Amino acid sequence: MNFSKKLTDPVFKVIAEAGSDVETYLVGGFVRDLILNRPSKDIDVVCVGSGISLAKVVAGKLGNHVNVSIFKNFGTAMLKHDGVEIEFVGARKESYRRDSRKPIVEDGTLEDDQNRRDFTINALAISLNEGNYGELIDPFNGLGDLKKKLIRTPLDPAITFSDDPLRMMRAIRFATQLNFDIEADTFEAIINNKDRINIVSQERITDELNKIIMSKKPSYGFKLLYHGGLLELIFPEMVKLQGVENIDGKGHKDNFYHTLQVLDKVAEKSDDLWLRWAAILHDIAKPNTKRFDKEVGWTFHGHEDKGARMVPGIFRRMKLPLHENMKKVKNLVKLHLRPIALVNDRVTDSALRRLLFEAGDDLDDLLLLCRADITSKNMDKVKRYLGNFSKVEKKLKDVEERDKVKNFQPPISGEEIMSHFAIKPGRDVGVIKEEIKEAILEGKIRNNYQEAFDLMIEIGEKIGLGKQK
Ligand code: ATP
Ligand code: MG
Repeated sequence: MNFSKKLTDPVFKVIAEAGSDVETYLVGGFVRDLILNRPSKDIDVVCVGSGISLAKVVAGKLGNHVNVSIFKNFGTAMLKHDGVEIEFVGARKESYRRDSRKPIVEDGTLEDDQNRRDFTINALAISLNEGNYGELIDPFNGLGDLKKKLIRTPLDPAITFSDDPLRMMRAIRFATQLNFDIEADTFEAIINNKDRINIVSQERITDELNKIIMSKKPSYGFKLLYHGGLLELIFPEMVKLQGVENIDGKGHKDNFYHTLQVLDKVAEKSDDLWLRWAAILHDIAKPNTKRFDKEVGWTFHGHEDKGARMVPGIFRRMKLPLHENMKKVKNLVKLHLRPIALVNDRVTDSALRRLLFEAGDDLDDLLLLCRADITSKNMDKVKRYLGNFSKVEKKLKDVEERDKVKNFQPPISGEEIMSHFAIKPGRDVGVIKEEIKEAILEGKIRNNYQEAFDLMIEIGEKIGLGKQK
C-alpha cells in the first residue's frame, strides 16, 4: 500500500532529499494517525544512521530560522517547523534487564526498530526513500489491527510488558483514546504482569492516567484498568468504591460505576482536567463513611468533607500539582452536595449567598458536576431532579446579580478599619471584617460601602473602640 498522496506537506520531500544517502522512514504515532485521519501534532522520523546528522541537514534545507534541539544521550534530535515538532532518531535495537525500564540500546535496522515498538499500530513505517517513496512497511499487520480496532503487541506480550511495564498503561490509554479493544492475549499479559508497574515512575503513570481521563469516554479506560488489576495498584481508593452491600433487603448504588457515569457526563461537557478529577474524587470517601441505619438505610454522612480532606494526599501520591488546581478539586468535592440541598422551596437567600461565596470562581464547574451527579435508572426521576436543579441555578443567578457575593471583596478594607479606630493590625480588625462579611451573607446589611461603614461603627462601639478621628 502506498501513502505518497497523503504526504501533502512539502516538508516530507525535504526530509526525503536530506536523507537521500540513508534509509529514512516516517514511523510510530504519526503514521497511525495519518491512516486513521486523526490530527497529529508531531512527526517521528527514523533513519538507519544518525538521526542527529539527518536533523541538521533537514534544518539547513528549511532555512536559518530553524533550530535543532539535540538530545545526545538519547541519540535524538528535534526541530520545530510550521508549529509541528519533527523528531529524528536513528534506528535501534533494544534489550532489557529485569530490574529496569531502561534498555540497553544498540544501532539497528528498520526491522529492529519496529520490533522494539509497543503495539502493532505504533510499529508502522512509511518509506521516504527513492524507489518506494510512500510505501507502507508493516511487518506485524498493524494496518489490519487498525481496521479491526485492536491493540496488540508486535512480539510476545508478556515479554513486551515485563520489559517496559509502562506499556500496560499505554495499551489502556490507546484503547481509550481510539476506542479500540485490547486483544485477548495482550490483555491477559497485562493481568499477569500488573505488579511490574511498581518499577515505573509515578510521573509517567500519572501522565498516562491523565490522558485516559482526557479521552472522550474515560470510563472505558478505568474499566480496563480495573479488570486488568492495575487500578488496585495505582489507585486503590477508587477500587474501594466498587461493590454493593445488602442488609435487610436494602442495597446502595455501586459507587464505582456511579463515579464513572458522572465522569463521562462531565467529560461530555468540559475539557477541564481538574473538573474531571473532581468527578473522579467526588464520592471517594463513601467507603470510609458508610453506615447502615435500620430506619433510613445506607448513609454516607460527611463523605464530602472527608473526601475533600483526602484530595491533597491523593494528589501528592499521584505527583499531581499541588497549587490552585488542587484547591479547586478540593473545593468541588467539599461542595458537591450543596446545590442539590438548595432544591427545597423554602431555601433562604442567605443559604444561596453562602454557596456563591464558598464556590466563588468554581461555581459553574460545581453546577456542572452536580448535574452530572444526578444518575438513576429511573429516567423520570432524573428529569424531575434536573428540572428542580434548573430552578436552583436560576435562584443562584438572581441572587448573584443582586448581591455580588461570588467574588466577595470586603467593602471596607482592613486599612480603613485600622485608620478609623487608630488601631494596629490585630485580632479586632479580623473580628470586624468577619462580622461585616457575615452580616452581608446573612442579609442583615447589603453589600455596599455605606451599610458596611455604619456596621463597622456599631461593632467598634460594641467591642469598646472609640472613634479616634
Ligand atoms: P501520542 O503522541 O498521541 O501520545 P504516539 O504513538 O506518538 O502517541 P509517543 O509516546 O509520542 O506516542 O511515542 C512515539 C512512538 O514511539 C510510538 O508510536 C511507539 O512506536 C514508540 N514508543 C513510545 N513509547 C514506547 C514504549 N514505552 N515502548 C515501545 N515503544 C514506544
Ligand atoms: Mg507522539
